Amino acid sequence: MTESDCLFCKIVSGDIAADIVYSNHDVAAFRDTNPQAPTHVLIVPRRHISTINDIGDKDRQEVGALYVAARDIAKAEGIAEAGYRVTMNCNAAAGQTVFHLHLHLLGGRDFSWPPG
Ligand code: 5GP
Ligand code: ZN
Repeated sequence: MTESDCLFCKIVSGDIAADIVYSNHDVAAFRDTNPQAPTHVLIVPRRHISTINDIGDKDRQEVGALYVAARDIAKAEGIAEAGYRVTMNCNAAAGQTVFHLHLHLLGGRDFSWPPG
C-alpha cells in the first residue's frame, strides 16, 4: 500500500530522493537528513504502516525485518561492536513527526540514558 501524501512512501517508491543504504523485499533504509549522530539511518517497511499502534499480525515479517536490517547496517557502518541505539517514536508524546513506521539507527557516539 502506498499512501499518496506520505513522505517515506515517496522515498520507498523513488519519487523523492534519499541516500539509500539498504533495501530488500520488506524494508528500505536511508540516511536521515537531520542526523543526530555520525550514523543516523531510518529503516522503514516498504508497505505503509503509520505507527506502532497500527501494526497488525500480518505485519510481523516486515517489523522483524526492520531489526534484521538494523543488525546488518550497524555492522556495515562499523558501529556494531562499540554499540548503537535503535528507537521508534510513537505519536506526539514521543515526538513522531513522520507517520510511516521507522526505526532510527543511531551510532558513532555515546548516548545517555534515560533519553530526553
Ligand atoms: P520521527 O520524529 O518521526 O521519529 O523521525 C522522522 C525523521 O525523519 C527525523 O529524524 C527527520 O530528520 C527525518 N526526515 C524528515 N524529512 C526527511 C526527508 O525528506 N528525508 C530524510 N532522509 N529524512 C527526513
Ligand atoms: Zn508511507
